Amino acid sequence: MEQTPLVYMKGKRKYLIITDHAGALPALPLIQKLVEHNCLFEWRTVSTFTDAAPYLIDWLSSQTIGSYLYLAGTRELIEKGREAAYEAGYSDDELQAYLVDDANTRIFCVVCEQTAFVPSGIQAKCPHCDTLLSITDHFSPRLQAYLAYTPISIETKAVTR
Ligand SMILES: [Zn+2]
Repeated sequence: MEQTPLVYMKGKRKYLIITDHAGALPALPLIQKLVEHNCLFEWRTVSTFTDAAPYLIDWLSSQTIGSYLYLAGTRELIEKGREAAYEAGYSDDELQAYLVDDANTRIFCVVCEQTAFVPSGIQAKCPHCDTLLSITDHFSPRLQAYLAYTPISIETKAVTR
């Protein structure tokens, strides 16, 4: 598993960044560096690499020599992204990948209204308010997290519906 955060590589003509919901936040320190160094860069976020693959392959192929590619996100994004990059003519010297630990899920706790990383599963304790939560499969793009309810709040909802 690649745990190295993305490293800023000096002196590239242009930087390309592809992330999914898991990789967007870990990529932020790199983006900040690129801005600080006045670098030319483009950043694409996708829900899944597969959905966006035809467009991303075109995009990668249309970049001229000297571009440097960063991938950050889930296993699917890293594997498919790397494949697409090779197909578009990139070598391992021209790309960096950061696999976000998929044993953890980013949740939004509806009790204390904070986000947190918890071990993936159907239930987890909120590290902020210590409430036992049920993790739903409802992903909020706005919060960049899966919604997590208390078992009681789900029951209440069902009754009042
Ligand atoms: Zn909480």
